[in-house]
Amino acid sequence: MLVNLQEIMKFAEEKEIAVGAFNTPCFESLCAVIEMAEQKNVPVIIEHAEVHFPCGPLHQIGPVMVDFARRAKVPVCVHLDHGTSMEVLEQAVELGFTSVMFDGSALPYEENKAETRQVVKYVHSHGVSLEAELGCMATVGGTEGMYTDPALAADFVSATGVDALAIAFGTAHGIYAKTPVLNFDIISEVKKAANLPLVMHGGSGVADEDYVTAIQRGIRKINYYSYMGAGAYQKALEYGREHPENSHLFQELSKVAADTMKEYLDHIMDVFYRLK
Ligand SMILES: [Zn+2]
Repeated sequence: MLVNLQEIMKFAEEKEIAVGAFNTPCFESLCAVIEMAEQKNVPVIIEHAEVHFPCGPLHQIGPVMVDFARRAKVPVCVHLDHGTSMEVLEQAVELGFTSVMFDGSALPYEENKAETRQVVKYVHSHGVSLEAELGCMATVGGTEGMYTDPALAADFVSATGVDALAIAFGTAHGIYAKTPVLNFDIISEVKKAANLPLVMHGGSGVADEDYVTAIQRGIRKINYYSYMGAGAYQKALEYGREHPENSHLFQELSKVAADTMKEYLDHIMDVFYRLK
């Protein structure tokens, strides 16, 4: 069942949980996420990021994601992760995505605000939700970012009308070079000031108890992929080395990768949705 981000965030707010937002740049990840969400009977967000376009071009994987969502037994939001140009945002909307992220976090504040407001008008006229980002997350491998300013967040949200806000409170994209130190008070302060569903990027690689605390403070969407992708890669490599007799069967690697991702999802969905 295809739904937009607003509907899924309403569910998350009511239940006080976070909905998992998983990147699905390939068929294996897409199958793994939908299968586990159906198995656990939870709504889910499948997302595609511009940085993954070289592996899965939007015009190829996008329609497949939308089709998977429509056929799923659980609510599924199809989201564009880190859209930076109007061209890509429009393409996602035309393909049937129900949510997009406009990442103007690298822009000066007023520009980010003005551009985000324009994008909100456009996507809302199509029944599509918008996630924006405020604050500067650390780059891949680092942990030093610039935290989101709660007062600015309140101004930004009321001026733009965004449906969800990605905030910077110590997480980073990719694989962590050192254990991240999270500033949970930022989450509480932004939640209090801006009162909307908050999004955690760089979600994989964080300790389970830190997810729980972040959710208690107001995080409602957690972007999770890097560690699951790295785990699948490692397992597929090991399988390849251990089974030279199957070296002509690429699909065996694909199956190992999908099964490994399902193991990660099995665990992390229990944490995000507070199932156990
Ligand atoms: Zn991100």
